[in-house]
Order: sequence, then C-alpha cells, then structure tokens
Amino acid sequence: MRFVDIIKKKRDGLSLTASEIDAVVRATLSDDVPDYQITAFLMAAFLKGMSPDERGWLTHAMTHSGDVLDFSHIDGKKVDKHSTGGVGDKVSLCLAPAVAACGVIVPMVSGRGLGHTGGTLDKLESIPGLQTRLSTERFKEVVQSCGMALAGQSADIAPADKRLYALRDVTGTVESLPLITASIMSKKLAEGLDGLVLDVKAGSGAFMKTRNDARSLAKALVDTGKRCGVATTAFITDMGQPLGKAVGHANEMAEAIAVLQGGGPADLVEITEILGGEMCVLGGVATSLADGRAQMRAVLDDGSALEKLKEVVAAQDGDPSVCDNPALLAQPNVSVPVKAQRSGYVCDFNTAAMGMAVIGMGGGRNTTADIIDPSVGLLVEVNRGDSVEAGQVLCWVQAPNQTQGDHASMLVGNAIRIDDNAPTHVPLVMEEIR
Ligand code: URA
Repeated sequence: MRFVDIIKKKRDGLSLTASEIDAVVRATLSDDVPDYQITAFLMAAFLKGMSPDERGWLTHAMTHSGDVLDFSHIDGKKVDKHSTGGVGDKVSLCLAPAVAACGVIVPMVSGRGLGHTGGTLDKLESIPGLQTRLSTERFKEVVQSCGMALAGQSADIAPADKRLYALRDVTGTVESLPLITASIMSKKLAEGLDGLVLDVKAGSGAFMKTRNDARSLAKALVDTGKRCGVATTAFITDMGQPLGKAVGHANEMAEAIAVLQGGGPADLVEITEILGGEMCVLGGVATSLADGRAQMRAVLDDGSALEKLKEVVAAQDGDPSVCDNPALLAQPNVSVPVKAQRSGYVCDFNTAAMGMAVIGMGGGRNTTADIIDPSVGLLVEVNRGDSVEAGQVLCWVQAPNQTQGDHASMLVGNAIRIDDNAPTHVPLVMEEIR
C-alpha cells in the first residue's frame, strides 16, 4: 500500500490494520517518506481519532522501533512509574529508592523539564557529579548492582517517537489522546517492564486541566499497557497546587531527601507511599496496596531508602554526602517573600504560572541549549484551604538577585488567589484506574 493510501484511509475515518500502522512507524525511521506525508497522517489521526486496537498497535510498533531493554537476567519484577508532569513533582526521586529498598527492580528512565513542569533528570543533576546520560550497558550495570537506576532516554529507545513528537510539536497535533498515549507508553514499555504505575495529574499545573480529561488519558494508558502485556495501574492526582513546598531543582532534591530521611511534606509523603505501594504490589513483594504502603513507610523510617539513594548516586558518579547533608546542594543568593495582600482563605493556585516564574529566573529552559540554575525556585508556605492574615508570607522566592526575586514575587503573588470563603476540598488522590 502507498503511504498516501494510508493517509486517505485515516482521513476518511476508517480503521487501519496492524500492518498499516507498522508501515507508518517504519516510515518514521527512514527518509523515504517525507515529513509532509507523516504530518498529514498525524493530522488525520488527530482529527479522526484511533480505536483502542489501533492505539495498541501504534504503541507496540513504536516500542519496537528501537531497543527494548532486557533485564531477564536479573531476578525480580521490573516496575517503573511515570508522571504526566506537574509543578513540584519530585515523587520519582523519593519513590524509586524506596521501592528498590522494598526489593522491586526499578529501571527508571526519566525526562527533562517540559513547558512549565520540571524534569526529574534536571533535579537529579543538582547533585554534584551525578551522571544521568548512561549508555544502555552502563544503565543495565547500575540496575544489576543497585536494583535501580535513574537515567535519561537513550537515542536507541523508541526512536519513532522522536520524529513523531518533533513533527507533532510544530503541526498542532500534540493534544491527541491516541498519539499522547502511544508516545508515553512506547518509551516506558521499551524499558522491558513487568509493571507500570502512572500518575496522571489533573489541575492548573497539569497537562490535563480537568479530571475528565485526566480520566480519559488514564484509561487509554492503562488499556494500552495491558494490551502490550504490562500490568498497569493509574492514579489521578491533584495538580491544582504545587506538590510539597519546594519548586525548583536543588530545593526539590533536598525535599526528596527529607522524605527519604523519614520527614517531608504530608502531600508528597502520601503520594510517594501510594504510588510506591502499588509498585510493590505490581512487583510482587506486597499483597495489597495497604501492605505496599506499610512497606514503603518502613523503608522510609528505617533509613534503608536513603541508603539506596546513596548507593545509586555513588554508582552514577554523584556525591552521596548530599544525602546526609542537603545543604551541600546549590543555595539561592537571595530569598524574597510573597506576602498575602489580604486576609481570607487560600482558594486556588495558578500552578503553571508559578512554574513559569521559576523558569523566568533561570530554573528551566527556553531553548534546549539553556543551562538550568539549580539554586532558584520557590518554597510554598501555604496550602489550598489555609486561613491566612494580610501580610503573612505565602511563599519564598529563591532568586539569583533581588531584581529577579521581586519580579517573580509579584508573579507568584498574582498566582495565589485568596477569598472570603474556604474552597471545597479536593482530594490528593482522586481516582484509581486498573
Ligand atoms: N509526553 C510525552 O512523552 N508524549 C506526549 O505526547 C505528551 C507528553
């Protein structure tokens, strides 16, 4: 079949066969089919949608477009977690060492900041010396010796997604449920997993702003994971306010270390225990979510999760002493308060605007070549529903200098709405989809 015939079939709203979808994915790996034909296909898929079968075939073909890691020589189930991204979302940094300390193998491949959201790899790299660009061989060695590794995606993992994502980004075809699903899942499934836990965020700081949209994505991700033979569970969690107190890089790493030391903010601890507990279930070391949570709590309390972080940091050439002394991480030059303009209740956060304020101070990238300043960020002192007095500090802006700190303080002040009436309660974990 000519590529144009596949485009026409999708344009007319017909379902493609598995071999036609394979042909599309093969086309992304060669120069034979030009960008304009691939993007015509993407737009047709965007406008006409894809059936669950087509979505599953696309994911499978994209997964196998490059290397699929094989950890079968390592005993134990391999389980990872993926978040759709948020502000202050440092859950992977707390959860991966804790789950590995519970005996599950965690070959974690993470990403960098995207839009207003921060990236796990960028946060990890605030640890002096730590390498996240590991060859496939080195990644496997670290997983074998530590039971976990934290690295970036190599060029050999799901290469079809690279071309497809780059084209989607510039042709208005990013926001398509089947295309997002195949993009996320192909990269995760190429890790050779037995299980995957998804944190699908909903709210002002999330990719999916509403709970309904988050639910549709979560269902598509779980269905696709299962079709591809990987036990998959999704949790829809609140991203209507930053997670934890810290937003940035070094400060988020320090907050993750606080959780691994047995402390940390309640919301971050709760999500870490729940998602990690489910990873323990999928990893076969816990009999129920409650059992998994209890095991997570135990390794956070007895120091074994922190020891696991030290082990993996050392294996990836980082300085493990930061795990005992997070003050060794980059510190901000100035801290500028954001004060409440009035008394009342904290009603909502424009979380994306808060993420953008951090990026504006150098805590994110505007171009791929930008270098992140790990010292800048926010420390948020209030939660939605808190009663506050005029003049009370709502947040500290950690800035490179006073001028940038004052500007970010104004932006963050505008992003926190205070009103007379307390807002309705939003649960941290909204839904579980299995
Ligand atoms: N993240 C991805 O990896 N792919 C998408 O399409 C959207 C978010």
